Amino acid sequence: MSSPDLQQEAEDIHDQLPESVGASLDDIQERLTTLVDEYRVPLDEARRSVMSTYLSDSDVDRDEVSSENGNPQVDLEEIDEAEQWVDITAKVADLWEPRSDSIAQVGLLGDETGTIKFTKWAKSDLPELTEGQVYRLGNVVTDEYQGQYSVKLNRTTTIEQLDQEIEVGDNSTEAEGALVDIQSGSGLIKRCPQEDCTRVLQNGRCSEHGEGEGNFDLRIKGVIDNGDTVQEVIFDQDATEQVADITLAEAQEMAMDALDTSVVADAVRDATLGRYYRVQGPEMGRYLLVDEFEQITDMHDPEQILITARSM
Ligand SMILES: [Zn+2]
Repeated sequence: MSSPDLQQEAEDIHDQLPESVGASLDDIQERLTTLVDEYRVPLDEARRSVMSTYLSDSDVDRDEVSSENGNPQVDLEEIDEAEQWVDITAKVADLWEPRSDSIAQVGLLGDETGTIKFTKWAKSDLPELTEGQVYRLGNVVTDEYQGQYSVKLNRTTTIEQLDQEIEVGDNSTEAEGALVDIQSGSGLIKRCPQEDCTRVLQNGRCSEHGEGEGNFDLRIKGVIDNGDTVQEVIFDQDATEQVADITLAEAQEMAMDALDTSVVADAVRDATLGRYYRVQGPEMGRYLLVDEFEQITDMHDPEQILITARSM
């Protein structure tokens, strides 16, 4: 595991959970790592979330459960329920660096209908998957976290290499409407400089590593409203620089002159709030991570939308 803190935390949780819950240390670590590293959830919150997950559904260690034969063969976009045993045919679209020794391989599988995260446990002792290669995977288990589905390869999983090509489909989503709110934590922020830690510093402190210089970053956490539904969105540095027409260097200079970083958030707000955008990108939990965006002409009366948003 890359972070000794997460390892320790996982062990603590493991010790605290009743035996009857049957939570494996690997599974706890995996859930914690996903929350902290992928979703940037503060460790305290992640810990509570993991504990309550196990206590609310005292499920058994999935690796110990052997599946029945005759799983359905499903397309990746059909996976919309956790704890299902399925067979899939997919290409290894991407391999990521495992964050834990308990994980042999982690990455993205893709088929014509979209992509899904996969995890292959070290203890499952399965053959190595190669990026770009298509496989038929039998007996994988689906999992879900905050609306994001994944599949787990376990020791009962069968792996058959196929001599075929798959054009991986795009499952990024789109939202369109007025940017009606810009949330705190937007504008010029500082992230912890520690390796494997990208937590946002609060008053110059990382909740894990204490005081630090921090690395500057720009982002917008906002809400896009089309009059019917709202979508929370995150613009990363690139997207923020473009949408707010400000570079990171300019933002730093602006904050230095004012001796206050909030001037950047104000400038970003002035440049974007109430404007109409069509944004596109992958969904992560409740956020759409903006890869691409364009400003569009008004689709609704802006006054009306802002009034709706304020009354929420
Ligand atoms: Zn840190």
